[in-house]
Amino acid sequence: MQVYDYLIVGSGLFGATFAYHAKEAGKSCLVIDKRPHLGGNLYCDSVEGIHVHQYGAHIFHTANKEVWDFVNSLVPFNRYTNCPVANYKGELYNLPFNMNTFYQMWGVRTPEEAMEKVESQKLEVKSTLHGREPQNLEEQALLLVGKDIYEKLIKGYTEKQWGRPCTDLPAFIIRRLPLRFVFDNNYFNDPYQGIPIGGYNALIEKLLEGIDTRTNCDFFAHREELTAMAKTIVYTGPIDQFYSYRFGKLQYRTVRFETEILDTPNYQGNAVINYTDRETPFTRIIEHKHFESFGPAVYENPKTVVSREYSMEWQPGMEPYYPVNDERNSALYEQYKALAQEEKNVLFGGRLAEYKYYDMAPTIERALRLADKELRD
Ligand code: FAD
Ligand code: UDP
Repeated sequence: MQVYDYLIVGSGLFGATFAYHAKEAGKSCLVIDKRPHLGGNLYCDSVEGIHVHQYGAHIFHTANKEVWDFVNSLVPFNRYTNCPVANYKGELYNLPFNMNTFYQMWGVRTPEEAMEKVESQKLEVKSTLHGREPQNLEEQALLLVGKDIYEKLIKGYTEKQWGRPCTDLPAFIIRRLPLRFVFDNNYFNDPYQGIPIGGYNALIEKLLEGIDTRTNCDFFAHREELTAMAKTIVYTGPIDQFYSYRFGKLQYRTVRFETEILDTPNYQGNAVINYTDRETPFTRIIEHKHFESFGPAVYENPKTVVSREYSMEWQPGMEPYYPVNDERNSALYEQYKALAQEEKNVLFGGRLAEYKYYDMAPTIERALRLADKELRD
């Protein structure tokens, strides 16, 4: 009784994008999700008329025009540009590190003065490294921006976010933060950026339009029955769970959100404020309305919703957010991947099944690639 061409486990961006393309190619799909809603981590709750990013703030950004055109063909995007501000013990700094930050930190006014200052800040670490490559995040950060910025804007935030000292973290994490000698607070270098008008739920609704879906449906609670319903399964859940954790459990970092409604129209004046000192227990405060209302429109709603984010070690039962890319977990994932590659009727994709952190645009790219390959064969 195979009713569908594809059973898609997980209605997040990967599953929804695959389903959209399969449907376009004339295939039938059933998309299931164990959560009470569709959309995976993009899902937004509506609170006081504000879209609240329930699983963490999501900002769409990409350099891939094909992906940008694709999402815009489904829903138009607004002009939101991410310009987070750092609060270090009450001192405010613009991010990413740019001329505004350098002026606030040292009072320097020209790119030349700023470069000189950064170079002088790096001297100490350069003399310690003697030309060798930085071995950890602390050395890398000191080599990129020097001591003052590392101590005020990087060290505390990073140690809270990752739950371990900067000297135990890989250097590459900090290399993705731009360093610019221009007055430009745009956090991303990508040419395309924004938030779907009407929120992320509108994007997911468009992707899944006309496709059969079931929420509150855990694949593992009905595995046999669901497996029998389709020729092929596209599985986007945790890969270790698919194999009943036979080699052991993969680890994650997770985030706890403390969300509250406030009786003020504009609490912090920005969508994202990072608290970069070690003592403040949360990493950042998100004020959700600023993703979708700009200028005077902010004051049209007399209320606001804010979320404090607490980064923590994942325990079973919590949401698995960030894969831990250390040796133990990478080796464990390789064992599961080898099993997955032997499967005939199951395709694996997305951030949980591939145990890899993907932003939204790369998630779409990968789902598109899998759909192209699968639907062509
Ligand atoms: P998911 O969205 O996790 O979807 C997987 C789905 O599978 C879930 O809905 C889950 O309930 C379901 N599922 C799992 N197991 C089962 C089961 N047994 N049965 C049924 N259903 C199951 N990207 C950006 O581009 N910009 C950002 O600003 C950004 N911010 C982020 C902030 C946070 C805190 C996190 C964690 C991620 C962020 N991302 C961001 C990344 C973005 O969330 C991912 O790219 C995207 O969610 C990946 O989609 P996915 O379908 O692979 O995974
Ligand atoms: N980071 C920091 N201070 C900040 C913001 C970011 O030190 O105010 C560091 C932190 O280590 C983080 C890394 O820069 O993991 C990359 O930043 P990004 O915003 O890409 O973080 P992520 O996507 O990991 O949350």
